[in-house]
Amino acid sequence: MRGPLGSGSPQRGLPRPLVPVSRRVVVPQRPTIAVCDLDGTLLDSDEALVAPFLALGIARAEIRFGPPVAEECARLGIALDDYVDGYDTEAVKPFPGVEAMLAGLGRWALCSNKHPRPGRAELARLGWSPAVALFTDAFDGPKSLGPVLAALGVEAEEIIFLGDTAHDRTCAEEVGATFALAGWNPRASASESDVVLEHPEDLLELLER
Ligand SMILES: [Mg+2]
Repeated sequence: MRGPLGSGSPQRGLPRPLVPVSRRVVVPQRPTIAVCDLDGTLLDSDEALVAPFLALGIARAEIRFGPPVAEECARLGIALDDYVDGYDTEAVKPFPGVEAMLAGLGRWALCSNKHPRPGRAELARLGWSPAVALFTDAFDGPKSLGPVLAALGVEAEEIIFLGDTAHDRTCAEEVGATFALAGWNPRASASESDVVLEHPEDLLELLER
């Protein structure tokens, strides 16, 4: 007597229907790799970023967040080395939930306009090991995702880019990648097309793992 069909009762010997390639339904691929911005996205670093400028006599209201560090130093008339020397790489903390989110990621990457010296020092201090970490020295001008995709060896639809600024959104749009906004940063401002995450661990739900 045959038992009931169900889990543990595989149907053997049934022919598989042959479906021509042209008629196969293409299921949109969920991204598998997270690419993250650093400052304002993973790190609650506003005060650390501002501190060297303040120490060098720049008014707080003059300082912008997001542009490449060399561009901002040039705009404010500060020597890049003076700024980098004044940056405290021991001060910055991750946003709540970021460490747990990163622990849940497999292969991930970092794409940042930060100077590589403090950026890599912070990665080392926090014990974070992205497969690819590109800082401002990897780009000719503001950061972009093309070099990150090339270094990872993946296509744009395979990644989701997590960021906190309009330029981060533009980076994703330029290559056709999904953008997720770090909604836990009170400075982050959403556009209609954004996937807005309330908590870092929400990112894990968007990835195919
Ligand atoms: Mg940022």
